[in-house]
Amino acid sequence: MKWHNLFHPSLFPLQRKVFFLLFFGVIAVSLLFPLSAAAGAKYKIETKYTSFIFNSREDMLRFNDEIDFGGGGLSSLFGSRSKNVTSEFANKVDLLFEKAQAILDMRKKMRKVRVRVYSNQSELEEAYWKIFKGRCNVRGWYVYEFNTVFLNVKDVHEGMLAHELGHAIIDHYLTVRPPRATAEILAKYVDLHLHEEVKRYD
Ligand SMILES: [Zn+2]
Repeated sequence: MKWHNLFHPSLFPLQRKVFFLLFFGVIAVSLLFPLSAAAGAKYKIETKYTSFIFNSREDMLRFNDEIDFGGGGLSSLFGSRSKNVTSEFANKVDLLFEKAQAILDMRKKMRKVRVRVYSNQSELEEAYWKIFKGRCNVRGWYVYEFNTVFLNVKDVHEGMLAHELGHAIIDHYLTVRPPRATAEILAKYVDLHLHEEVKRYD
């Protein structure tokens, strides 16, 4: 399985950075705020550390079911789709974020990570094409320039979310972003050890 942080400043000469920032800015705006009316009605959830954008509430409910973390909460205990499902979702995501920070031992205040969740594989591939102009062979990814994680609701689990949030945490914690391979090792460590007790280092 591979899902990667594909952009790293070392890939580009410094003088091209401004151009790329502008370039990515335009793409980010077009991805996050599409002009078509049909695509305009998104379902958004703000949590303490993240800001999620779904196509619909149904996608959020499905995503919530796929993310197995932190014991579930009341609505899953009673099997009802209570209105508390939104706060259950937010708590779960924030708990997962804090766990990723704890595993990495990288706790630092940072702006909220955006998570764009698409409804299916073809939407994910379309988004990938818009950003990278290439064929999508990853299941999800994080783009530092947008501070955004991209995922598909039909192919997601808590490990993938933790991995991608891990990329955001890693890239924002260190003053100089680590090389891609190093960042990937760290992010993999997060999803591998997600369900274990965090080791203590003295
Ligand atoms: Zn990765």
